[in-house]
Amino acid sequence: MKPTISFLLHTFKWVNRDIFDNSLPPIEFKIGNAASYSGKFFHPTTQIGFLRTTPNINPYIVISRRYDIPATQIEDIVIHELIHYYIYLSGIKDSSPHGKRFLEIMRQINRDHGRHISVSTRINPQTQATDTRTRKKYICISHLETGDLGITICGKTSVLRLHQAISRIPSVKKTEWHISINPWFNRFPMVRSCKIYKISHENYEKYLLDPNRRDTSRLQFQPPDSISKYKDV
Ligand SMILES: [Zn+2]
Repeated sequence: MKPTISFLLHTFKWVNRDIFDNSLPPIEFKIGNAASYSGKFFHPTTQIGFLRTTPNINPYIVISRRYDIPATQIEDIVIHELIHYYIYLSGIKDSSPHGKRFLEIMRQINRDHGRHISVSTRINPQTQATDTRTRKKYICISHLETGDLGITICGKTSVLRLHQAISRIPSVKKTEWHISINPWFNRFPMVRSCKIYKISHENYEKYLLDPNRRDTSRLQFQPPDSISKYKDV
């Protein structure tokens, strides 16, 4: 299933009662679309990029609806975020975001309530495959000096700017651009700033170079050629 606000509020209610002894004040839930996390607890000093959130906001929790996952897994994600909330409210300074205190509480809940909460909010490959949106993506493959391949995915309006930025990075030997609607690429975040993720040679060949693919994966273009002519791809 995909999370809804009413499901999240319902989960909050019973988790607060059964696990946290009703010690948590109500908290706002938001539905997000992040590819990089399944849930995230925001509080007044959460750092977002270079900016810190303003000190007068209330804490809130964002749960991503990007992936189709079982209800119990969504509950585990909510409980994970509520552990952060609990530690935040208690004023305990933990050694790190998933430090000693967090792990203690997490293990106790897993043991006493038969849950499977984990530290990682990363998405496993099976779950990534449930993201089947077919949105056109502009994909930059960077050939790095080390022999590794990097991938940067963005919307059309960022192509030229990112092309220039990536080309200026000294360890990038060569770049090439592709257009694809293949949902496999949904596992990478769409970026507006110059961020390069790793992609294996195997996946690069499979999803971008295989001549038998029917989608538009093979379509390559060369910025700064006008990309407007690819509008109807
Ligand atoms: Zn966490």
